[in-house]
Amino acid sequence: MKINKSYKIITILLFFLIIIILGLISRLQQSPSPNIILITVDALRPDHLGCYGYQRQTSPNIDKLAKEGVVFLNCFATGPDTIASLPGFFTGRYLEVETPKHLLTSDNLLDEKFTTLAEYLKTMGYHTAVFGNHPFLKINKGFGQGFDYYCMDQRIKDSEEITKRVLEFLNCYQGNKPLFIWIHYLDTHVPYIPSEECLKKFENDNLYKTNDKVLELRPKQVPSITYFDSLGYIPPAVFRKSKYNLNYYIARYDAAICHADFYIGELLKNIRDNTLIILSADHGESLGEHKVYFTHSESIYDEVLHIPLIIKDNRYFKKGKKVAGMVSSVDIVPTILNRINPVWHFFNKHRFNGVALEELVKNKEMKRKYLYSYYAHNVRLIRDIKRNIKYTIRKNGEQELYFLPDEYANRAKDDSLGVIQIKEELKRELKTWLKHYPLRADINPQKKVLDEETKELLRSLGYLQQ
Ligand SMILES: [Zn+2]
Repeated sequence: MKINKSYKIITILLFFLIIIILGLISRLQQSPSPNIILITVDALRPDHLGCYGYQRQTSPNIDKLAKEGVVFLNCFATGPDTIASLPGFFTGRYLEVETPKHLLTSDNLLDEKFTTLAEYLKTMGYHTAVFGNHPFLKINKGFGQGFDYYCMDQRIKDSEEITKRVLEFLNCYQGNKPLFIWIHYLDTHVPYIPSEECLKKFENDNLYKTNDKVLELRPKQVPSITYFDSLGYIPPAVFRKSKYNLNYYIARYDAAICHADFYIGELLKNIRDNTLIILSADHGESLGEHKVYFTHSESIYDEVLHIPLIIKDNRYFKKGKKVAGMVSSVDIVPTILNRINPVWHFFNKHRFNGVALEELVKNKEMKRKYLYSYYAHNVRLIRDIKRNIKYTIRKNGEQELYFLPDEYANRAKDDSLGVIQIKEELKRELKTWLKHYPLRADINPQKKVLDEETKELLRSLGYLQQ
């Protein structure tokens, strides 16, 4: 009995000793902590970037960053628009906002009970700041959690002005704490207003000459007030006088990337070496695929869910590596935190639905079998990582099953035994997942009336029709 008791005491002491040692290692690893720059570019499609194989020279500066870091070739957003995607992105969890109508009037899109990346980093000793001009990401919408300095101002014109403000902030910063800065660029979102210089580069090239087509301007009277109503038409927010060709608008989108890329280059030129840089997007954009023109909300096809993810980190992530494994935007927060404080992350993995991507970068196989995306209770989607299959179910019971990369041949009604089995299996997995996820991001919504200035801005971005 005595021996047993001694063993117990020794085990407990050893346990505490290990905790202390791990804590010390953790401290050593944290010192010096790198500055962290997280760049999200709204509605940025990876396949329109040079580093993902695009033929136009849209992104020389992002391409340079890609060469210096790791490129994740298959990263997917949890949702198809900013609000559907960013709660998960910034918490590493599967969170959703209920309806698109609601998000326009709510003051609380990301409830305080959820912990954000900025909050985690703040407790790890960071000084935190955000810059951008997205109207949905105002501080009162819940995205300000954990930020010491919050500059998300819809009056800021474009990436040029945002970058200027970031650089001013960096020049003035006198503190000793490492910095976490999140920058959200909106140039690539409708209405695509690039510089003339960028537009000239692509407007008259031949890239889309063979599949160019004449589009119609959307009729003025649209029954729906939601924004996903441009099926087969040019949305008014995008339309430019007497311009009806698909090619012209894709050139505008690409030119908008070129415009943002230039200022991303200006920013990166001024960033110190010991900086962890992450570049990604909240979602992609439909440029005519699935008959959806120049929009993204509600579409759950990969032109909208596929996002870029580039991580540059001199310490852990090998230069110039391309990772083909499928990952999700919910992996970004655990990856950053694992890099900053691996011991903390080890004991706190359970807080996240996403996983740290370091293992994958080191060619270790991940145990995870599925990824998920969703949109405001209307659509739920499961992605089978190994077999590259996607199964979707909508609120009205409509089902879609795709053997990727073909996202046009819906196999949901295929009655061959093998396909039925796959569908039933994915349906079962999705239902099991739905018992716990996604969680409501906006727990206590407080509705409010929009002011005229915000309404006008939302109209210009295509979110409001009247
Ligand atoms: Zn967005």
